[in-house]
Amino acid sequence: MIQDPTGELAGRHVTVAGLGVSGIPAARVLRELGAEVTVVNDGDDERSRRQAAELEGPGVTVRLGDGDTLPEGTSLIVTAPGWRPDKPLFTAAAEAGVPVWGDVELAWRLRGPGAAPWLAVTGTNGKTTTVRMLASILEAAGLRTAAVGNIGVSLLDAVLADEPYDVLAVELSSYQLHWAPSVRPHSAVVLNVAPDHLDWHGSMEAYIADKGRVYEGNEVACVYNVADPVTEELVRRADVVEGCRAIGFTPGAPAPSQLGVVEGLLVDRAFVDNRHSHAQELAEVRDVDPPVPHNIANALAAAALARAFGVEPRAVRDGLRAFRPDPHRIEHVADVDGVRYVDDSKATNTHAAEASLGAYDPVVWIAGGLAKGASFDELVAKAAKRLRAAVLIGADRALIREALARHAPDVPVVDLDRTDTGAMAAAVHEAARLARPGDTVLMAPACASMDMFTNYHARGEAFAAAVRDLAPGRSAAQER
Ligand code: ADP
Repeated sequence: MIQDPTGELAGRHVTVAGLGVSGIPAARVLRELGAEVTVVNDGDDERSRRQAAELEGPGVTVRLGDGDTLPEGTSLIVTAPGWRPDKPLFTAAAEAGVPVWGDVELAWRLRGPGAAPWLAVTGTNGKTTTVRMLASILEAAGLRTAAVGNIGVSLLDAVLADEPYDVLAVELSSYQLHWAPSVRPHSAVVLNVAPDHLDWHGSMEAYIADKGRVYEGNEVACVYNVADPVTEELVRRADVVEGCRAIGFTPGAPAPSQLGVVEGLLVDRAFVDNRHSHAQELAEVRDVDPPVPHNIANALAAAALARAFGVEPRAVRDGLRAFRPDPHRIEHVADVDGVRYVDDSKATNTHAAEASLGAYDPVVWIAGGLAKGASFDELVAKAAKRLRAAVLIGADRALIREALARHAPDVPVVDLDRTDTGAMAAAVHEAARLARPGDTVLMAPACASMDMFTNYHARGEAFAAAVRDLAPGRSAAQER
């Protein structure tokens, strides 16, 4: 039996926007709490009709094919995070003074007394990795915890779980933060901020402001990236609980109130007595998988949140050692003829690709796909010196080819002029031809995958399959 700590939902007419992964559970919970629920949905396809039929019943109606009109009598909207703020539904809500909560806001409001605190992670890249590292550390400390939120595990379920958690490791996207006005994490981190999803937020400023919401009301620590001044500025702007500290993480030697790296060790100069003269060893760099610079940054951010929660140094080490990255995130697929093949299909924007290109030298780079309006100049200019060659596929490959011509004119480029799924095998074949022993072939496309594949996962699988098909023992020289 779920309780409503807000006491506001029984009898209230709530409109749930979006019949999907967050909308269906939200509608069920709201109904159980006694609300009168109307679900509105833009689509009216077979799947949504089936879902609607399952959901409809006393107190729940579903309106398919019209997600724009505000149902009569609505006094609250609970929206799926992906719904754009400029939709007419929200304009109508604003005019009528109707509040809008996202799924995260609903979960936050339904926390009972003594509920598990949230350690929150946001940023343009590295969220899932960091939140999973954090959960692994918290588990190593013997705490009952889960990695939840944008990572694909329902926050609502976690908050309403029969057996309560000690603490939650919560991944929050910028969309979710936009619709979560009263969430107040125990401690939080913004890992980095680079342009992404700007069409949704309307501007870079709006995107940055939504990310910054994660720091609102933090109690113990606002963790920021020393190398990314925007994240520190967001900490300065935040309204936090008295005594909450700003804690930096850096790939270099840490100043007081920072975590960083000294001689192959992850060290803490923030949550220690006498931080002006003392640093606490947490783990070795090689405990981080893979130990590449941006992933060490993720580990330091996770460690900072865990330490803010009072976790002992040994659990940080054990948690990092136990952690294995999710597939398609800088995944080492195989070595063939002395060449390392790395799948970073999850590098779906230029900021992510820049991080992984920075970790290898020399690199044969496989790139291309849907650019989502990005510019490749900065990425290519920074990577130029490391590039052995580039192999381009996908719909927007011309944008990358032009950037290469401008900033890396001497780098050989193979433009496969293909957007079919089989192009990945051809790209791997070309990359193998161009690579020399000691090189890395890195598939970090800097683009979304949907022009050629169902998702980044399918793209990564295609790459791995093609690498496995490269006959072991064949040398690049023979191919030429
Ligand atoms: P998210 O959940 O934010 O998409 P992931 O942990 O799934 O992040 O990583 C996505 C991709 O972003 C990785 O494949 C890698 O290319 C890149 N990446 C991971 N961590 C960082 C970081 N700290 N800075 C920049 N890029 C990163």
